[in-house]
Amino acid sequence: MVRTLAVSYVRVADVERITPRMLRITFSGDALASLMEDRPDQQMKLCFPRPGQRVPRLPGPDAEDAYGMRWYEAYLAIPEPERPFMRSFTVRSYDPGSGLMAVDFVLHGEGGPATRWARAAGPGDVAGMVGPSSAYARPLPGAGHLLLAGDASALPAMGTILASLPAGARATVCAEVADAAEEQRFDTAAELTVRWVHRDAGASLLDAVRSAALPGEGAAAWLAGEAGTVRALRRHLVEERGLPRSAVEFSGYWRRALTQDDAPTEEDLAWARERTAGA
Ligand SMILES: Cc1cc2nc3c(=O)[nH]c(=O)nc-3n(C[C@H](O)[C@H](O)[C@H](O)COP(=O)(O)OP(=O)(O)OC[C@H]3O[C@@H](n4cnc5c(N)ncnc54)[C@H](O)[C@@H]3O)c2cc1C
Repeated sequence: MVRTLAVSYVRVADVERITPRMLRITFSGDALASLMEDRPDQQMKLCFPRPGQRVPRLPGPDAEDAYGMRWYEAYLAIPEPERPFMRSFTVRSYDPGSGLMAVDFVLHGEGGPATRWARAAGPGDVAGMVGPSSAYARPLPGAGHLLLAGDASALPAMGTILASLPAGARATVCAEVADAAEEQRFDTAAELTVRWVHRDAGASLLDAVRSAALPGEGAAAWLAGEAGTVRALRRHLVEERGLPRSAVEFSGYWRRALTQDDAPTEEDLAWARERTAGA
């Protein structure tokens, strides 16, 4: 089935530092009202201008998407010196009243093009956006108890998932951040337990998940963050804690020492096949 993946421009309305290493950028955009859906964990790609450009050059506005590729071919057809840097992000919130969309950017280390753009962003700056689209939605596994585990890049998605849980649901968050100043508060109707893992204290996300209490039955997990850590978490939950594979939704958000411009590794490809197979 051929689906249209919307390509649009968004404009910075406001920039707010919500923790020392997390920047919330609020965007306006003519297409936002028609693009935003009432579901958690909406993912899209943001496109950032190359040096010397004020506005990124984007693939055609209606590039078609046969589960992923036509718009990407159009993107690759842009000559490299003009092709925007493209990185994946999560819609942290959308307010239909004001028409504004918030995206939280982790300010990691020296960063890449996305982080550098975010650090320098101010009102009026323009980025491109590809998606979001329900074609890429990965529904949460149904569960009486949901475990969410990941690093700072996963906090925006976790925030939207927690906000969508009904009263009576139970959730445990294990979140790895640089230090105590990076902790955030989550709004949720669910009964929530949060375990913060501080890198500056030498703590490990895998250890936190290992010691998280889960019910014998009816548990599910949502994992995101650095790809190697996500793989290790998934292995632990499936092989040592006995969660069915179908109850673990997982996504490698970034790869150590690699950017999103780098080709997938053999391990990435094997993993992608497993995800697509729903194994
Ligand atoms: C579906 C999806 C949703 C995402 N949502 C968000 C979101 O809402 N907010 C958000 O901040 N990120 C999010 N990410 C992660 C984000 O796309 C990556 O972190 C991206 O690499 C950042 O781009 P960059 O240009 O700053 O760095 P890149 O140029 O891609 O990488 C430069 C260097 O930084 C390292 N690096 C990249 N990301 C991180 C990180 N988070 N921490 C430490 N080192 C890193 C890389 O290993 C590389 O060495 C999401 C990713 C996916 C796939």
